[in-house]
Amino acid sequence: MTSILQAVSCLDDYDPNALRVDKAVEAIRACLSPITATERIEIRQSLGRVLAEDVVPAINVPAHDNSAMDGYAVRFSDLQPGETILEEAGSAFAGRVFEGRVGPGQCVRVMTGAVMPPGTDTVVIQEVARRNGDRVLIPPGQKKAQNVRYAGEDLKAGSAVLRSGKQIGPADLGLIASLGVGEVAVKRRLRVAFFATGDELASIGAPLREGEVYDSNRYTLHGMLARLGVEITDLGVVRDDPALLEKAFHKAASAADVVITTGGVSVGEADFTRELMAKLGEVLFWKIAMRPGRPMAFGRIDDAFLFGLPGNPVAVMVTFYQFVRDALLYLSGRTDDYSIPLLKANAAEPLRKVPGRTEYQRGVLFREDGEWKVRTTGQQGSGVLRSMSEANCFIVLEHERGKVDAGGQVSVQLFEGLA
Ligand code: AMP
Ligand code: MG
Repeated sequence: MTSILQAVSCLDDYDPNALRVDKAVEAIRACLSPITATERIEIRQSLGRVLAEDVVPAINVPAHDNSAMDGYAVRFSDLQPGETILEEAGSAFAGRVFEGRVGPGQCVRVMTGAVMPPGTDTVVIQEVARRNGDRVLIPPGQKKAQNVRYAGEDLKAGSAVLRSGKQIGPADLGLIASLGVGEVAVKRRLRVAFFATGDELASIGAPLREGEVYDSNRYTLHGMLARLGVEITDLGVVRDDPALLEKAFHKAASAADVVITTGGVSVGEADFTRELMAKLGEVLFWKIAMRPGRPMAFGRIDDAFLFGLPGNPVAVMVTFYQFVRDALLYLSGRTDDYSIPLLKANAAEPLRKVPGRTEYQRGVLFREDGEWKVRTTGQQGSGVLRSMSEANCFIVLEHERGKVDAGGQVSVQLFEGLA
């Protein structure tokens, strides 16, 4: 295993006390290696999982040249510049082939999906052909090879159609099935354990005493992790007590590939978490040039990677989406593009911002007068979880950027579709 310190020290512009968001992402990436264990599972079970092998068709799909339309299969060389009269020699349906050969001057009635009768190369749609007994009248203007689907047009035997590292979607399930394959190799699921730290945290069911807040971070974490399709171990709330925290860290690290904690990472708090993390493993403490979510810890305890997220509920979500999500998908073995798309919209109101940090304001993207606009959800405190709940996007204000005037263009990251 590479040392965390070694891995990040090769990065240029790496300053743990004023780390840019993109640098932090890069630093984390430099330390990770994707899981390699795989399992074979039934294709229906593989939805959302990560392919662990290239899928290479053993057959062509479709397996035979076939008709794309209902109509008549003809020999193009028979067709005259004007009308042509052909003799109907028989019929072919999807799943029932025409036996025999089609000679000059003949045609075959075909249905969509029917194998092209030997000798024919073109399909004339039934809407334009006229039939009289076993005579079929073909109008002029037909094109050679029209309305024919060729063998291997969808998938070609021998050439990879899905790459290892792709997340399997509904179309992929069908595509694998179309090859007659019932099982597929996928990466094993990533295991993630988490707990919330803080003496002030009350759990649901207990009365709220003076100075306490109900723990909400474990619930947002649960939601975000569940959408990513990882295996989740929730280790509950742990008091700011060194012995209890130490036990929790080891337990989490032995159960999981990744450990996530919330709270106790800012400097100068009466929290033991920071001290303890530093003692238990190789852990870096960062001040990230972002808002919300400035303090964050990253490192390794035992064999697990550690993300020590801030305690503030909004900061938890922002740091999760900007750092943890990317890391978890990378560790899961994904090689397709899973970056969160940045879309453009116009600010519906002036936005406050100072250069020198990346801000993730909570926004509502809406359409007005045919234009996509975005406004904030109001109060932007990092403890105001309502700002996330009411938002449908982050307004991403880049590092160098200053205030934005109303009407100015900004980037947004949509929550919809964000796994
Ligand atoms: P900390 O980073 O531990 O100083 O926490 C920062 C703020 O977030 C404090 O106001 C905490 O009460 C609050 N907080 C920490 N953990 C949680 C949690 N699990 N649920 C809700 N609020 C929390
Ligand atoms: Mg705390």
